[in-house]
Amino acid sequence: MVLALVCAACGPSPAPVVVLVSWDTTRADALGCYADVAHWGLDLRAARHPSPRTPRVDALAASGVRHQWAIAHAPTTLASHASMMSGRDTRGARVPRNGFPIEPDVPLLAPRFAAAGWQSVAVVGASVLSRDMGLSRGFLVYDDHLTQKVRRRYERSADDVVDRTLAIVDRRSLVDHWTPLFLFVHFFDAHSPWDSSPAELRSTMVDPSYAGAVDGSSDSVDWLVKATRAGRVGSDDRIRARALYLAEVASMDAALGRLLDGLEQRFAMEDALVVVVGDHGEALDLPASRPYGHGFDVDLVASHVPFVASGSGRFAVPAGVVVDRPVGLMDVAPTIAAMAGLPVDPSASGLDLQPVWRGDADAAAILEERVLLAEATKPTQAEAAPDWNNRYKERGAFGRRLLVTESPWEDRTPPSAFELAPGQPEASDASRSSVERLEGALRTWDAGAPDYRDPEMTSETKAALRGLGYLD
Ligand SMILES: [Zn+2]
Repeated sequence: MVLALVCAACGPSPAPVVVLVSWDTTRADALGCYADVAHWGLDLRAARHPSPRTPRVDALAASGVRHQWAIAHAPTTLASHASMMSGRDTRGARVPRNGFPIEPDVPLLAPRFAAAGWQSVAVVGASVLSRDMGLSRGFLVYDDHLTQKVRRRYERSADDVVDRTLAIVDRRSLVDHWTPLFLFVHFFDAHSPWDSSPAELRSTMVDPSYAGAVDGSSDSVDWLVKATRAGRVGSDDRIRARALYLAEVASMDAALGRLLDGLEQRFAMEDALVVVVGDHGEALDLPASRPYGHGFDVDLVASHVPFVASGSGRFAVPAGVVVDRPVGLMDVAPTIAAMAGLPVDPSASGLDLQPVWRGDADAAAILEERVLLAEATKPTQAEAAPDWNNRYKERGAFGRRLLVTESPWEDRTPPSAFELAPGQPEASDASRSSVERLEGALRTWDAGAPDYRDPEMTSETKAALRGLGYLD
């Protein structure tokens, strides 16, 4: 009691805090600070559609580092978070898609923090990351208490995630305010259906005169998929869908603000690092095998995600830096670990990005030469044991200013090449040698693919996973 009174008089705790905030289903260009690398359709660019509204994360970018071309290695949630937390791409982390738990021998960030004496707290927004999926390892508290059922999945809003996070931090019997804290927070609102944003926010971003069928509900998103494929979706519907999606992202940004303000009331944040990333993007109305969704395609709208870092004190980050060479979500864990002084994981594939942030030319040259690999994680019907069960799905290699994709499932030849540039134009002038370099990287990746993860999955396991929405 005496200690508590003394601490209360001290004001906010000076303990170091590292906050990793993951925004699910968030394309880079859904944030205001990525306006110059937007992939919105050319026909809608000048039309009456809402702009991204993300002042809090934009402010973080201005006060720190923003990665212009951050790449997700998989367009599904669990596989992408496994990369983010392990410093490995999908095949290194051995998570082919949702529903395949991260195996116990894959090094993750939270156990490494725990070994160094930090306390770790996670609060997730959807059952795709429930504790039985393996991400919970090493967390002192892993809150996956999800009560809102959306079809086969459970989820909660970013506002609820923030309320829960602050409530946990306030439970002093759980969280000691004088011990360094690693906080992982997962927002799911941008994933369809788009019905989480507060009505007052939504009303400022949508056109009140719209009279069509798109209301953000699951049924209306289903209709958009069918209507897009049938060529029956109108520009008003597309604009409406985009506005609803951006309202969800704006809502996550407001929740991020509440989280950071709440943490500042509790911790001095004098030694604090805040990292915001997206786990994958969202096709919306752009050409894709699965419009208004993700998981099937490797392209810029599915793979290009936000990655922003801002820090203070021992976590100070150069202000206003924009890194334009491609980085991967597998770089998140090595960078955070290095900043927190954790022992290096020599088996990780990702890199500590701090030298690049400081302008180190050698580090930038390494990024320039590196090839980043990504793969789609659906459809399951294309799987063929005993190979790696993504072998027949679209995969892509990012290198220098180019993305090359191969889609054996669709038997598309030759591979498609895209420039890493606004508007995602087809790279008509890509040199043959650049394309061949990336094709070679894909072949090497395939040659080293791990065996099929779980060919003997029982029917009960399959039924349970299907019930939670993990299997198609
Ligand atoms: Zn996701």
